[in-house]
Amino acid sequence: MSSTMNSNINLNDYLHSSQSHPITRHWQSQSIENFSAKDFILPIFVLGNDDDIESIESFPDVKRMGQNVLIDYLSPLVAELNLSAILLFPCMKDDVKNLDNAFDFHKNPLLKVIPVIKKKFPQLLLITDVCLCAFTDHGHCCVFDQHSGQIDNQKSIETLAKLSVKYAQVGADVIAPSDMMDCRIAMIREQLNSAGYSNVSILSYGAKFSSCFYGPFRNAAGSAPKFGDRKQYQLPSGSRGMALRSIDRDIRQGADMIMVKPAMAYLDIVRSIADHYPNYPIAVYQVSGEYSMLKYSAQIGLFDLEKVVMETIIGFKRAGASIIITYFTADILRWIRNK
Ligand SMILES: [Zn+2]
Repeated sequence: MSSTMNSNINLNDYLHSSQSHPITRHWQSQSIENFSAKDFILPIFVLGNDDDIESIESFPDVKRMGQNVLIDYLSPLVAELNLSAILLFPCMKDDVKNLDNAFDFHKNPLLKVIPVIKKKFPQLLLITDVCLCAFTDHGHCCVFDQHSGQIDNQKSIETLAKLSVKYAQVGADVIAPSDMMDCRIAMIREQLNSAGYSNVSILSYGAKFSSCFYGPFRNAAGSAPKFGDRKQYQLPSGSRGMALRSIDRDIRQGADMIMVKPAMAYLDIVRSIADHYPNYPIAVYQVSGEYSMLKYSAQIGLFDLEKVVMETIIGFKRAGASIIITYFTADILRWIRNK
């Protein structure tokens, strides 16, 4: 995989082009001392039917929402709480799960909802998760070679890049590939630039660990693998060196921002990356299992929810993260406002 495009231009030399949105520019410049609404990203699960809303097993108070429900849900968060950024995940019904449908305006709910959200909330930063597991019938994040049964890395990253361009076409501001296939950042950056979307940023899931903490999310997105597990492409939980090498590579290939996921059990990795790359914004993703664990604990009176959540956020900041992806975002914005 070449890290160059055209003549002698390095992909990671694109500096200002992909930092055109006020929120991504804030992420490049903020102090780690203070919390701001702009530091938080709310993950959202989008359904195909506009008026549908669904609860999710073991994921208290998090819903899957169709377009109309979602717009109503977002309106007060944007207007009153200054919600600044959302991370969108598509939810596909089992009978329409195939890769072709990822590119179909009528089948992939994100293609339809992004322009609507963009028009309604032009200032809101729209980040799209890019992965294949929402669209594959086997639930893995990649394409398999039909003969060998092994991961077809090249085909996988070509598909991811094609999907990234599609999301950019409908108005995504940031592409966030969560698949962990090798060299997808270079492929996505090249394809975005070639298609005229050098203004779109890439938030790399650079250090995504294989984790027990993803359970409720897989219920939400219906993306649990039908066979095997994701240990062959997500990082082993003890792998500090591999995580740092993955981050090195993604930065070299043109990532604008980098992410560690999950958050609470991996703060040593955040600190290492912050020390290695003080000039890059680091995101942490406080994932579904971390959220549900805290939420259920607070519900049985073990913790005060605000106090325990804010303690985790302070921990993320102290470790070196400046962007926090959490299902508690709406609560946190309310707590910040009421202070
Ligand atoms: Zn995936």
